[in-house]
Amino acid sequence: MKKVELKNVSKTYDGKLTVINDASVTVHPGEFFVLVGPSGCGKSTMLRMIAGLENVSSGDLYIGDEKANKLPPSSRNLSMVFQNYALYPHLTVEQNITFGLHTKKISKQEQMKRCKEAAEMLGLSDYLKRKPRNLSGGQRQRVALARAIVTHSPICLMDEPLSNLDAKLRAKMRSEIRQIQRKLGITMIYVTHDQTEAMTMADRMMILDKGVVQQIGQPLEIYNQPKNTFVASFIGSPP
Ligand code: ADP
Ligand code: MG
Repeated sequence: MKKVELKNVSKTYDGKLTVINDASVTVHPGEFFVLVGPSGCGKSTMLRMIAGLENVSSGDLYIGDEKANKLPPSSRNLSMVFQNYALYPHLTVEQNITFGLHTKKISKQEQMKRCKEAAEMLGLSDYLKRKPRNLSGGQRQRVALARAIVTHSPICLMDEPLSNLDAKLRAKMRSEIRQIQRKLGITMIYVTHDQTEAMTMADRMMILDKGVVQQIGQPLEIYNQPKNTFVASFIGSPP
């Protein structure tokens, strides 16, 4: 298990627009940490900096005990799941799940073993030979989750992974993701704009507004003691 730490991290696009402003947080090993805030507040930008898909303009990023500001994405040992989980349409479910393992010099036998495990966890065992077009939206999203699990990465980043699903399926997937994360002891950083999702999933959460950290804490603690009016109204705390 690995921690992720931001120390006074800021992000400026094109040298002018400040999208993340002096953010500091430590995500503990094995924690389910949720980044929540309204659309455009900088959640994806923060996640992309942790992934190494955007550089950090100032401040320091640590993954485990290693300073990671300049570490290439492939060396960060983390997996990612996005809202638009592009699956390869010409590959089977099995091939989609193991696709990222080819470059990691993992034996065919080990790939199949991991694929089988992940498919079982996500209820995909009967669908391994299908193509994505013959799956439902929920099943496709499960394939995207399986693809992250097979990497055996200690850290997983998810950016609004359920927002394309209907409400009922979303609720089911929330608890499945939570169970798998606990079982595997993954350090999770999960982005959502949905405060209910944040409240139900998070060990701790960070509330962002306009690139500024408003509050970090356990869901109930924040609900009962919001630090400011923005947090109170966003979370729906009693007045
Ligand atoms: P969220 O994920 O919370 O909706 P984002 O991190 O996507 O927010 O975006 C935060 C702000 O940064 C927005 O104002 C957005 O327009 C801006 N932004 C995002 N990516 C870029 C980029 N590559 N170049 C310039 N501005 C960007
Ligand atoms: Mg986003």
